[in-house]
Amino acid sequence: MFVSKNLSVNEQGHLTAGGVDTTELAAKYGTPLYVMDEDLIREHCRSFKESMDRYYGGEGLVCYASKAFCCKAMCKIMLEEGMGLDVVSEGELYTALSVGFPADRICFHGNNKTDRELAYALENNVGRIIVDNIYELDRLNGLAEETGRNANIMYRIKPGIDAHTHNFIMTGQIDSKFGFALETGEAFEAVKKALKCSHIRLVGLHCHIGSQIFDIDPFVKAAEVMLDFIAKIKEELGAEIGELNLGGGFGIKYTDEDSPVSYDKYMEKVSARVKEICAERKIKQPFILIEPGRSIAAPAGITLYTVGGKKVIPGIRTYVSIDGGMGDNPRYALYQSKYDAVVANKAGEPKTETVTVAGKCCETGDLIGEGMPVQPVEPGDILAILATGAYNYSMSSNYNRIPKPAVVMLHNGESRVVVKRETNEDIIRNDLL
Ligand SMILES: *Cc1c(COP(=O)(O)O)cnc(C)c1O
Repeated sequence: MFVSKNLSVNEQGHLTAGGVDTTELAAKYGTPLYVMDEDLIREHCRSFKESMDRYYGGEGLVCYASKAFCCKAMCKIMLEEGMGLDVVSEGELYTALSVGFPADRICFHGNNKTDRELAYALENNVGRIIVDNIYELDRLNGLAEETGRNANIMYRIKPGIDAHTHNFIMTGQIDSKFGFALETGEAFEAVKKALKCSHIRLVGLHCHIGSQIFDIDPFVKAAEVMLDFIAKIKEELGAEIGELNLGGGFGIKYTDEDSPVSYDKYMEKVSARVKEICAERKIKQPFILIEPGRSIAAPAGITLYTVGGKKVIPGIRTYVSIDGGMGDNPRYALYQSKYDAVVANKAGEPKTETVTVAGKCCETGDLIGEGMPVQPVEPGDILAILATGAYNYSMSSNYNRIPKPAVVMLHNGESRVVVKRETNEDIIRNDLL
């Protein structure tokens, strides 16, 4: 009935998440409110890990891409689940280290890491630094030399596969700000160079082909391209590349239009193809890393809002205004992302209205969605937007000086605040006269 399996309707006709009445959460903590289901997050982690065990003998690491949703509580959950972690900034790395996340299970990404970030990663012995370009390699080697350390790196490669949508395209010269190109020989030259660097250990290669991907084929194709390159490196340079990072991007169900495949199917097909190619090309089966972000966090989250005014424009549309908007969920404004909406206090009723949900910012484009089917909605109702666990809180801003909502975590039918609601005092905290 709902896009996420932890959602249901109770006897009062209220929407529940993880068995908890969402209208009670709204009353207790106020709105807007991010609600994350810890039990579902853990279930997602386990199913990725189980697939890795079943189809690839556990010879891999599932790294949660923390940019999807990052806070101390989330890093701690990942730590407890035995996951690896992707970070893309000093702030994300700092958050992970603050809960004692083991640095050897952290991958540090980004196309423009600063010297300060690289030094911070080295100082803390981050397990894998994913190097994006030669300029970065040179700086990292220099910094490692200065501090007498060695850096374990993976190279980010553009495999020439673009899969940001329901289908994928193979391009000759992929236009992306990330990584080294294969077809121009740029990647091969970079490998040669890394092998000569005194303080660099090239442990693996990385690719990430997009996000919200529903087909398995582009992932299989990417693995083929990458293994081809690993074989070439072995044949021509005699170097063994031990690790292959296949990135994230697994699609989730935002609305009934989406039909994601199970992670199990993905691991089954990709593992089979990896084993096949390794046997054919006589290369060692690499240790595999995958980096799911959205698929772990998004289905576990909902956002609760209080409905304000309703504006019926006859023959045009009906606007429903909420007490949040693009500040806490910029995804519609950014890329017209689709969501399901439910009136939480009337969740048992049929959806008989179609509305445009508007935020409270001074922007016409501040919408959460257009043409959204909902139950009959009135001022004072609690509106739930579903599957907002990824790229909502992490992308939130203080536009219009609106404080960020609190994040509440659900576990075993209990709720607790894991990120406090911002106050007006927080808004002016760094202001000086
Ligand atoms: C964003 C990102 C991910 C996670 O992508 P999802 O679509 O959230 O699974 C993984 N790896 C890299 C390098 C990324 O940039």
